[in-house]
Amino acid sequence: DGTGPDTGAVTPMMAQYLEIKGRHPDALLFYRMGDFYEMFFEDAEQAAQALDIALTKRGQHLGRDIPMCGVPVSTAEGYLLQLIRKGFRVAVAEQLEDPAEAKKRGSKSVVRRDVVRLVTPGTLTEDALLEARRPNFLAAYARLKDDAALAWADISTGAFGVKACPSGSLEAELARLAPRELLVCDEQERELSPTAEGAGAQLTPLPRAAFDPLSGTRRLLAWFGVATLDGWGAFGRAEVGAMAALVDYLDLTQKGARPHLSPPVREAEGEVMEIDAATRNSLELTRALGGGRQGSLLACIDRTVTAAGARQLEARLAAPSRLSEVIGARLDAIEVLVERPDLGQALRDALRGAPDMDRALSRLALDRGGPRDLGSLRDALRVAERLADLLDCADLPPLLVRAARGLARPEGLTGLLDEALVASPPTLARDGGFVATGFAGDLDQARRLRDEGRAVIAAMQAEYAEQTGVASLKIRHNGTLGYVVEVTTAQADKLRRPPFDTVFHHRQTTGSAVRFATQALSETEARLLNAGEEALAIERRIFAELRGAVLSEAAALARVAGALAEVDVAAALADLAVQEGWTRPILDTSRVFRVRGGRHPVVEAALRRQGQAFVANDCDLSDRLIRLLTGPNMGGKSTYLRQAALLAVLAQAGSFVPAERLELGLVSRLFSRVGASDDLARGRSTFMVEMVETAAILHRADDRSLVLLDEIGRGTATWDGLSIAWAVLEHLEGVNRCRAIFATHYHELATLAASLPCASNAHVAVADWEGEVVFLHEVRDGAADRSYGVQVAKLAGLPPKVVARARAVLRGLEARAREGGPRTLEEELPLFARGVDAEQAREPSPLEERLRAVPVDDLSPREALALIYELREML
Ligand code: ADP
Repeated sequence: DGTGPDTGAVTPMMAQYLEIKGRHPDALLFYRMGDFYEMFFEDAEQAAQALDIALTKRGQHLGRDIPMCGVPVSTAEGYLLQLIRKGFRVAVAEQLEDPAEAKKRGSKSVVRRDVVRLVTPGTLTEDALLEARRPNFLAAYARLKDDAALAWADISTGAFGVKACPSGSLEAELARLAPRELLVCDEQERELSPTAEGAGAQLTPLPRAAFDPLSGTRRLLAWFGVATLDGWGAFGRAEVGAMAALVDYLDLTQKGARPHLSPPVREAEGEVMEIDAATRNSLELTRALGGGRQGSLLACIDRTVTAAGARQLEARLAAPSRLSEVIGARLDAIEVLVERPDLGQALRDALRGAPDMDRALSRLALDRGGPRDLGSLRDALRVAERLADLLDCADLPPLLVRAARGLARPEGLTGLLDEALVASPPTLARDGGFVATGFAGDLDQARRLRDEGRAVIAAMQAEYAEQTGVASLKIRHNGTLGYVVEVTTAQADKLRRPPFDTVFHHRQTTGSAVRFATQALSETEARLLNAGEEALAIERRIFAELRGAVLSEAAALARVAGALAEVDVAAALADLAVQEGWTRPILDTSRVFRVRGGRHPVVEAALRRQGQAFVANDCDLSDRLIRLLTGPNMGGKSTYLRQAALLAVLAQAGSFVPAERLELGLVSRLFSRVGASDDLARGRSTFMVEMVETAAILHRADDRSLVLLDEIGRGTATWDGLSIAWAVLEHLEGVNRCRAIFATHYHELATLAASLPCASNAHVAVADWEGEVVFLHEVRDGAADRSYGVQVAKLAGLPPKVVARARAVLRGLEARAREGGPRTLEEELPLFARGVDAEQAREPSPLEERLRAVPVDDLSPREALALIYELREML
């Protein structure tokens, strides 16, 4: 009712529940009750349904049954994961004190509870909730008046990045990062929700203030404990806003626990190859069309042996570089390891099984870690030492030298972890047993007392027997008295007389025995009973100390982790290059694109599994920028197009490439429109999608772009399609002046290509074998001499009668064409006749016309605003 629930007639516990729930209305509340997390009311109904668990009742609230369901704390992670996957947010309320404490305050008092953490898709840290070899990004998009930016962080690894993100490029950036959650200003929630949904990110609106760059700077400075952000780059206002919203949200969800975040890395304009979402999807760079990793380029080339290495490889492949120095350094490292395969192998052997330092560190920072995480860090530091030894040799390229330096271990901490921990520490600190013997004297003693309790008592018994001369003296444990010295009635007097009477104090006499207590015995007993507790307490203290030591070296550990991943990626790519016979690409800043013997790695691998060979192909776009590829369906056109794109991606990601030789002028933007993709969900037809994407390419492709277009215009009537394809080809050639491969089954287009100075023709070769078509998958220069549509139709199993009829019709059509004389397409389509300047042919858009008609000086501010709205509508 807006004023909070009526808590008048409710139990104190329910009042507490409602109070906490009131502060977290948009999350399911996991309310800790002993060994369970319980949910009530609507939360219970939603969770029971989502988790398929029983919905029961617990008491009444305002005269109605309270629906309730619960999950055991011990298996809560699995349930959390299911809920997060289904789009819920979960607030976890823990008991903040021992129930005994609450009792002391009075019988009515409830255990203090509060939310210790909000679990959301972008803020997961538990191994069980994460994919080891994938990042888990939380992103924040800030759009201010004049600029916009995207920040992203993976709190499970500490990675933190930011870049300007002008309108229109958000979708591409989201496709690259695949964040699980996107923070936006609540005023933009509606507008951005389809974009977020399309990228598979959960949208979380935050108030506008969270994105404010002014207060944002302060919040960032406080978070990182620095005096200025300038040391990390010249951040724009929107960039600061996005980063600030992100760290704010971490504070909100982690309830003050600080995840370890590396200083933000600012990605400048032009640093990475731009790849829009459609291109990324169709090329299946890091994800196959089904959404999984399997079948993607990444899965095909990933030979890394550590999770962090796999994540770094994905990051590289998702954002190929445009900086020659960066790519060159990566290639140098691979080359050395290719030349020295024994060093590469030794590095890989050392790395195999190295634990995930980043994630261990992140859990420890959030106080969700345990002794096993400390053990992981120790083990990884040992791997680092081994790698540093291996890399301690002359003639290494700068990247490996830098990595070797990065592997330097924080001395004190390394020694501390080595000494402190047992070989394989348990997951939880709670039960102890992780501190090595010999590390702490008091712990050793407490443990000895605990473990050797019986021996200690036995020793005391022997001592007392000897001192008193009562050989039958026994120390026994009695339920009410505890440990007592017991002698027969006959012997009891000895102990009552001096000098023993001061030591042995009578406690009890029974029919056959007399029992005494001694000061030493009760002290021992107390110590014995406490020993276990004490050992645990000491271990917990040591855990806290070790955790503190780790966190104070967090930056150094993150550096070591980064170096491990770097070495892993270099060694993995070298291994791949050796195994698969890949070569080092030759890169420069020209517009060259020359491939000799290129292969499509994913198709090649798939064919190999079927015992078939891949046919390597050449491609040269250097002199003639545009290559028009004709040939029948199934001939290998799409494969050839994608292959060109993948070669560029691999080369600029800093990998060797599946080609005998690749010369590549660095690609600024990659566009691939290969294979029709329906977007019916958004109410667009295949043809519409194709045209929208083609339009984007024609608008955005610059002269360093690489464009791959497959079957443009096939979604419409033949002449329409052909005309569009023709015009697009002319535009690419005359205006964009980019490198492009253009596949088509319109053989007529070959005439056009032959007439354009910057275009060349190629075709996929087909052999005609006794009337059957055989695909050779060879790409040859020149246009295809004929179409093989009818043969392909036959191969596909069209009924023989239909095939025969088609042949007859075709023969008839061909004969008619001959009789009609050599009518070229240009005669039929005068608009596109050779020599038409593409600029001239371009009609002004309605937007341009409208703008031109604006009486700028006569506009009132209100009219100007209305005009902007109007223009936006026309976009
Ligand atoms: P198109 O786009 O011309 O219809 P695709 O590129 O889809 O043809 O290729 C059809 C099939 O031919 C692929 O699934 C692949 O198995 C095979 N193929 C394509 N290119 C090659 C090649 N270079 N070597 C061997 N097989 C190939």
